[in-house]
Amino acid sequence: MMCTNEEPQAANQPERVPVMKSPEELTELFRSMGRKVTPQRQRIFRALQGEDSHPSAEWVYQVASTDMETISLKTVYQTLHELAELGEIQALDLGTGTTRFDPNVEISHHHLVCRSCGKVRDLFADFSGLSISASQAEGFVVGKAEVVFRGLCQECHEKLPTVPGLRPPPNSSINSQT
Ligand SMILES: [Zn+2]
Ligand SMILES: [Zn+2]
Repeated sequence: MMCTNEEPQAANQPERVPVMKSPEELTELFRSMGRKVTPQRQRIFRALQGEDSHPSAEWVYQVASTDMETISLKTVYQTLHELAELGEIQALDLGTGTTRFDPNVEISHHHLVCRSCGKVRDLFADFSGLSISASQAEGFVVGKAEVVFRGLCQECHEKLPTVPGLRPPPNSSINSQT
């Protein structure tokens, strides 16, 4: 069964809002690439629209299955991985225990990650000056650096008891990709 809820079309989106192809465009793309298009897959396309929480497959499954019981977690995984293969979303391992999917593939960005609840936020900061020397690279041909700042989100920070020394200092890690 198709869900009949029409999502409002986002017009005049401000910069930095995750932009991904509409469900209709994704349907076209999947068909043109000879990939399977089903109402379940189209429901998954809709679940991702405007979503900037970097959802996990489990989250997408929960949202999509609320009004379409015939969706399986397997279909969600398969569809997300096909979207990633086509470059429409990015699969990220941010150390939160689950693969997170980022619809914002247009604008290069980094991430803030809450070490407590796993919340992920886009971080738009310029780290283009980051570089390593050839000897540090140990023969690797390195590509761009992705910066992950780990800490506590506002909600988790506010939940902490105010005992001195209990708040871990923020730190960051840098992952390089070719
Ligand atoms: Zn948190
Ligand atoms: Zn992101």
